[in-house]
Order: sequence, then structure tokens, then C-alpha cells
Amino acid sequence: MTEFEIIRQFFADRLPKRPDVIYGIGDDAALTRIPAHHLLVTTTDTMVAGVHFPLATTPFDIAYKALAVNLSDLAAMGATPAWFTLALTLPESDPKWLKAFSEGLFTLAQLHNIQLIGGDLTRGPLTITIQAFGLIPEGEALLRSQAKPGDLIYVTGTLGDAGLALKNLPNRPDDYLLSRLNRPEPRIAAGEALRKIAHAAIDISDGLAADLGHILEQSQVGAIINIEQLPLSAVLTEKLTSQEAIQLALTAGDDYELCFTIPAEHKAELTKKIATFNCQVTCIGNITSGKELILQYNDGRKYHDQTSGYQHF
Ligand code: ADP
Ligand code: MG
Repeated sequence: MTEFEIIRQFFADRLPKRPDVIYGIGDDAALTRIPAHHLLVTTTDTMVAGVHFPLATTPFDIAYKALAVNLSDLAAMGATPAWFTLALTLPESDPKWLKAFSEGLFTLAQLHNIQLIGGDLTRGPLTITIQAFGLIPEGEALLRSQAKPGDLIYVTGTLGDAGLALKNLPNRPDDYLLSRLNRPEPRIAAGEALRKIAHAAIDISDGLAADLGHILEQSQVGAIINIEQLPLSAVLTEKLTSQEAIQLALTAGDDYELCFTIPAEHKAELTKKIATFNCQVTCIGNITSGKELILQYNDGRKYHDQTSGYQHF
């Protein structure tokens, strides 16, 4: 297949189609309309075969995750997804592979009404670069730098599942864990609902401790996390000791849940909106005026971890 046949057959004219796309695939560049009083939110992520996903990953899942991780960045800003581009490097043009890949891509694209408006196609080692664009009313973006002492710290969903799936890959982890690794659910609805509620937000791609650490650093604050409050799935607690589960929840990446902080006076507002999140939300601690991330048990004892230095950032 030629480059143009591939684009025509698998990527052009797919759903969703949005009225704000003046011109999508087919010209030198795309034209889109940004509504008044909104900001354009832009993010990009590259996935390289064998580095960001195992070579055995299905093409459906590769595409799904490549788009999901970009959507997760939009969610962490509070943005509404609008458009994306796809730069695809392929070792060969295999129609069966491309069909499954495009199905994974457009399945998720339709769920979040994000339209493919362009891209690039090259030959080489399998690499997927997606750039995603979202929209947000001016002044409402969720930044890493706005956490304040006294804020409550929350996370969406459960933590550690994707990490356990990755560890167990050679032994075929169960379907729940695999789907947590390969098809993360970008928390778009949660991000949108948090616009006027949250002070700060980040998506968890490198593990809670590391990613919360970015909020603390950029906001120049500290935090106390109650490790017994960390939301763990039934599968995780069944398969691991509580110590192992906590360790994974704190340090494993790839969960793509949101971690966010809200001022205590917004708690009632959060409770009111929680039904729109489509996922559980758990309070795990609070922001302090210190400079440290303190991990402790319910009774106040410190949690010590010998294997990594993440307690100090
Ligand atoms: P150019 O030579 O200007 O880079 P291309 O020949 O690469 O243009 O692409 C032609 C059109 O097809 C452009 O509109 C481009 O955005 C689109 N396109 C190329 N590759 C892809 C892809 N993988 N997915 C979607 N659209 C693509
Ligand atoms: Mg090109």
C-alpha cells in the first residue's frame, strides 16, 4: 500500500467529525476554530515499541494507549478534548495490523469526541507520536503550581494495578490487570468537573509519590499522605501483601489516574459533582506548609521504605 492509500483507507474520514474542524486531513495543515474566551491546550507523547510497550502488545491496545496517555494529560489540565494528530512510523505496511490499530484509535477517539485532523507516515521502527489539543475557558486550567497548605489531596480510581500487570506480564496477568495497563481510562469528566473546584492537578504516569512530588515542588509546599487510605483494587489486595500493594500504589507508573488538591471549603462542591466523575475518588491526605512528602499510617507512625528515595524530592 502507498502512503496515501494507507491514510485514505485507515485514517481519513473517520468518526468523530466535529463542526469546529474547518479542514482536517488532506491539505498541508489542518484548520480548526477556537471558541472565544478559550485557551488551546496542547500536549504530545511518543510511544516506542519495546520501550513504552512490550512488542507483544496488540495493535488495538497500542493505538488505544497512545491516545489515552495524551487524553490523560488533557484531563490533568481540566481541558475538553478537541483534535489530535498522529505521526506514525511503521516497519512495514500490514493492512491487518493497520485495521486493528485504527479500530483501537477511533474507539477511544469517539468516546471523547476528539477528531483526527492530520499526521505523518514514515517507515522505520514502530513509533507512535500523538499530539492532542483541548479547549478550556480562560483562567480555568488546573496547574501543578497552585496547591496551597491545608488543601485536601485526592486521587481518582485505584493505584498500582497497571504496575502489577507490568510486573506479571510474563505470567499472563488476569484481564482486569491487563486492561488497566493497556487501556487506561483518561479521567476527562473528572478533570472538567474539577475546573472551579481544584487548586492543582496532575495525572499519575510515573507513580503517585513522584507525580505528587511535582505538585509539591512547583507549588512549594509539602504533604502528608495516609498510606492506609490509598485506593487499592480488590485484585491488587488479593494478590499482594499490604506492604507490596502500598509500595506499588506509591511508585508504579502507568495508572493514569488524576491526583488533585482542593481547598477544604470546596469539599461539599466536590461531593455534589462526584457522580459526574464516572470513577471513585479518595481523599489520601493534605497539603502542608512544609517541604517534605510525609507518608504515615492511620496512627501517625511514619512509613519507611528502604528501596527508594522518593520521600525526599
Ligand atoms: P506533507 O507532505 O505536507 O507532510 P503528507 O503527504 O505527509 O503531507 O500528508 C498528507 C495529508 O495526510 C496531510 O493532511 C496529513 O496531515 C495527512 N496525514 C499524513 N499521515 C497521516 C496519518 N498517519 N494520520 C492522519 N493523517 C495523516
Ligand atoms: Mg508529511
